[in-house]
Amino acid sequence: MKVVRKETVLEIEKTVDVLVVGGGPAGVGAAVSAARNGAKVLLLEKRAFLGGNITACYVENCNYFLKGTPFHSEGIYAEIERRCKEEFGSDNIRLRNPNAFCSEYLKVFLDRFVQESGAEIWFHAFVNEVITTDDHIDAVIIQTKKGPIAVSAEIIIDTTGDADVAFSAGVPFEQGREKDGLCQPGTVSVRFAGADVEKLTLDPDRLGEIGKDFKRRYRAGETGLPCKRQDLPFGRLTAGGQISYANYACAYGLDPTDVKDLTRGELECRGYIMDLYHYLKENYEELHNIEIASIAPEIGFRDSRRILGQYHLTIEDMEANRQFDDVIAVFPRFYDMLAPDAEMDGDGKVEGKGYRGHIFEPVVDGRSFQIPYRTMVPVNISNLLAAGRCISADHVAESGTRAISLCCMTGEAAGAAAAMAVREHIAPKDVNIRALQEQLKRQNIELPV
Ligand SMILES: Cc1cc2nc3c(=O)[nH]c(=O)nc-3n(C[C@H](O)[C@H](O)[C@H](O)COP(=O)(O)OP(=O)(O)OC[C@H]3O[C@@H](n4cnc5c(N)ncnc54)[C@H](O)[C@@H]3O)c2cc1C
Repeated sequence: MKVVRKETVLEIEKTVDVLVVGGGPAGVGAAVSAARNGAKVLLLEKRAFLGGNITACYVENCNYFLKGTPFHSEGIYAEIERRCKEEFGSDNIRLRNPNAFCSEYLKVFLDRFVQESGAEIWFHAFVNEVITTDDHIDAVIIQTKKGPIAVSAEIIIDTTGDADVAFSAGVPFEQGREKDGLCQPGTVSVRFAGADVEKLTLDPDRLGEIGKDFKRRYRAGETGLPCKRQDLPFGRLTAGGQISYANYACAYGLDPTDVKDLTRGELECRGYIMDLYHYLKENYEELHNIEIASIAPEIGFRDSRRILGQYHLTIEDMEANRQFDDVIAVFPRFYDMLAPDAEMDGDGKVEGKGYRGHIFEPVVDGRSFQIPYRTMVPVNISNLLAAGRCISADHVAESGTRAISLCCMTGEAAGAAAAMAVREHIAPKDVNIRALQEQLKRQNIELPV
């Protein structure tokens, strides 16, 4: 049976220079950067708070991989890290994660930080439709309780992580592994309260040891737990006995854009969380008295749709540290891809391209890679940019480009470029790259040009 969807005529509710869709690290970077560069900006976020995976999936460890390397945070992300910690502290007595901060405070901080820049925020604003004429997006449709609302903008930046705007506008995309489309698993994180701080601090990183011991037992078949994830990374430990984040419950084989798969993921993961909770309570004396403080509000994804842009970044580019005239970010070479087929054993090397187990390559010898501006410019829509984890890159490359601070940096570059395009009445693809790079350097982004 089929149904006919009725045509509707909508008034444009609001017109801005730059519309940013998605308020995660990339969206915050984009909105703040565009607003500081003089554009009238509206940021749409489907949830009730900003921060994306950091706040919705408790990913507070953000830049843990920079520890002990010559790299440091840059631009707007560095400002967020510094100012949020200055204001709220990090509430962390676990020295292993010096870069971690509390995502609940981050929510409050980002509300103000974004508004301070002059950008307006609309929460509960889910976008999955656009109106186009030829290669131009005329309006973006927000689904609300009152029905659809139309907003228009000269330039739109898609920072939804899933490339929802680009998808609605018909931009070609890739998703998951090249061979079978499988993405990394979806994860629902959990916070525990009631950990025995005194016992946990007898050893400098007892929580880390528990994580390793758990993995050893899992591999030896001793845990009997059904979740295929073997690793158990923990986040901050607070003086009050809270473990701010356990990144364990993973559901495999999900399409992050499919409502039935998302439901399966949430259900499976909440079950795995309960298994983990009981296991930890029963097997580690430091955790005998824990309780579940909160389960993350939504399953989080590390990868999903990736747009096809005017340049498609490959793993070969990253391995060769290929230099680009239109470089907008330089980032440490680092890959972390949870095996999409749950084969967590394997060589862990990038050459396996995600077909030979979990890829984990930490930063070594100060190696880095460059991101060209064209990875954010879609091939077929003239007033759209994409930033964050949905830029144009192959699947393994995305396991490096997905890093939170880099997502914020691509957002920041897209925001600055969009503001320039608005000022000069040109399409983002025609932005003067040299001028954009100079502007980014003024925004404390380090570029080799
Ligand atoms: C469990 C887990 C652990 C991770 N660990 C790390 C780590 O340790 N370090 C690290 O650097 N990275 C880590 N990552 C990856 C990192 O979180 C992401 O790559 C990063 O958050 C991507 O930023 P983003 O802004 O592109 O997308 P997201 O963070 O996904 O933000 C997208 C935003 O857009 C909103 N949105 C989505 N669709 C719509 C729509 N249609 N309309 C309106 N709003 C929409 C979402 O609600 C969200 O706020 C981890 C991810 C997960 C899931």
